[in-house]
Amino acid sequence: MRVAGSPFCKVVTSHLPRMHHPSAFRLMSIAGGLKNSPIFRSLGLIGGKWIGAHDGNTLKVNNPSTGEIIANVPFMGGRETNDAISSAYDAFNSWSKITAAERSKYLRNWYDLIMSHKEELGQLITLEQGKPLKEALGEVSYGASFIEFFAEEAKRVYGDIIPATLADRRLFVLKQPVGVVGAITPWNFPLAMITRKVGPALACGCTVVVKPSELTPLTALAAAELALQAGIPPGVLNVVMGNAPDIGDALLASPQVRKITFTGSTAVGKKLMTGAAGTVKRLSLELGGNAPCIVFDDADLDVAVKGALAAKFRNSGQTCVCANRVIVQEGIYEKFAEAFSKAVQNLQVGDGFTEGVVQGPLINEAAVQKVESFIQDAVSKGAKVILGGKRHSLGMTFYEPTVVTDVRSEMLLAREEVFGPVAPLLRFKTEEEAIRIANDTNAGLAAYIFTNNVRRTWRVSEALDYGLVGVNEGIISTEVAPFGGVKQSGLGREGSKYGIDEYLELKYICLGDMTRK
Ligand code: ADP
Repeated sequence: MRVAGSPFCKVVTSHLPRMHHPSAFRLMSIAGGLKNSPIFRSLGLIGGKWIGAHDGNTLKVNNPSTGEIIANVPFMGGRETNDAISSAYDAFNSWSKITAAERSKYLRNWYDLIMSHKEELGQLITLEQGKPLKEALGEVSYGASFIEFFAEEAKRVYGDIIPATLADRRLFVLKQPVGVVGAITPWNFPLAMITRKVGPALACGCTVVVKPSELTPLTALAAAELALQAGIPPGVLNVVMGNAPDIGDALLASPQVRKITFTGSTAVGKKLMTGAAGTVKRLSLELGGNAPCIVFDDADLDVAVKGALAAKFRNSGQTCVCANRVIVQEGIYEKFAEAFSKAVQNLQVGDGFTEGVVQGPLINEAAVQKVESFIQDAVSKGAKVILGGKRHSLGMTFYEPTVVTDVRSEMLLAREEVFGPVAPLLRFKTEEEAIRIANDTNAGLAAYIFTNNVRRTWRVSEALDYGLVGVNEGIISTEVAPFGGVKQSGLGREGSKYGIDEYLELKYICLGDMTRK
């Protein structure tokens, strides 16, 4: 048994019994250690000040692994959100006018501070979100990479000069920041979903009001504290949390907010899209997926098993790019099902701070009930659970890593995102059939294919109605490549040189009367 070796979290564990689920004492010590960390914050951030809700109301933040209450944070609403918008609006004036090189330096400082606090941020993520510490530390590096990348991109926001159609004119294109941005983020990546948005926004001169998920606000607040320490001026980055619909409505209603960027469910994304119409705001939406993971007969079995395992079970299946349907060609189906199940059986479930654990708890009881109802639906329609299929003996919201065979397209498991550690296996005969099954959904975020045939790789990649395609690889997201979906998986792209365009307006400037001396 091991506890991360942060200076803020020295815990003596030698006398504790060896088990997957750590004692309440140990977890309280981790939480206690983190609370003494200089980056631990449990108030909202408005105009550079740490602030509570105006009526003093709070909400509890839980550790999903134990149910322990880690902190109380302000339960804010429209009023605090409007204050945050005003601060961001005031700060925009100066932040958008300093040089790109200066903004780049601030972001670089922030990146360096995030990386030098990697251990505490990782622990906070594990504590409030539940993912294994190793994965949480991976998220810190991944999340920080967006700040580093956009610190560099800040200096490359080039405009254009267009050859004029009349001799006495000169035509220019200027790229300018859209203004105040409202960023609404989910709980499954408490840091990375924020940095993916705030990095490019700040780089090009926008200011931001972030609303993290109420389930995981502590990582967001710690990251905001580091932004202040990096010298990012007050009001440039604000954080509010509490009543999500009220905060969302305030962001939507304000004419000062010029853009909403959101990662979360398709249902809330649609609401925001409707709400943004009132003030005609720019929108970026990263919504749900229903990722197919197609394994062809000609795939390398080991590569396919390893890739499908990573794509499916990362964060206990709670990511929007998680393989939601493993679609396997009939010639390799039995062999794959056997090898895959063996690999899934080896996934150790437990508290994220325990060494060797690769599957943490699900985020809450509703998430477990959703998984249970999907399994029930599939079984009632003829699917077979060959591994797992029930709550884990650890209790709480732990669920057994599960493999279900004989899944068909009409079952809930194939139609909707299960967002849990359940791999449904579907069978197909021909390449055309695989493409048809894969595209038979309203979602279009990530898809994975496993094949050793180069021509097939191109054919299938081109035919898939998805924003991202992984070939012989299950983990493909990186700050240097565009991330985003088609169809009802969303609008816009995050990361890469394209990601910054989401925060920029193009202004065409025409100079006339240029031939006069
Ligand atoms: P999930 O099911 O993954 O939690 P949600 O879409 O419900 O996805 O949540 C994503 C983010 O959207 C969270 O920060 C949540 O608080 C926020 N949210 C939920 N409902 C609304 C709403 N009506 N307006 C604005 N934000 C909302």
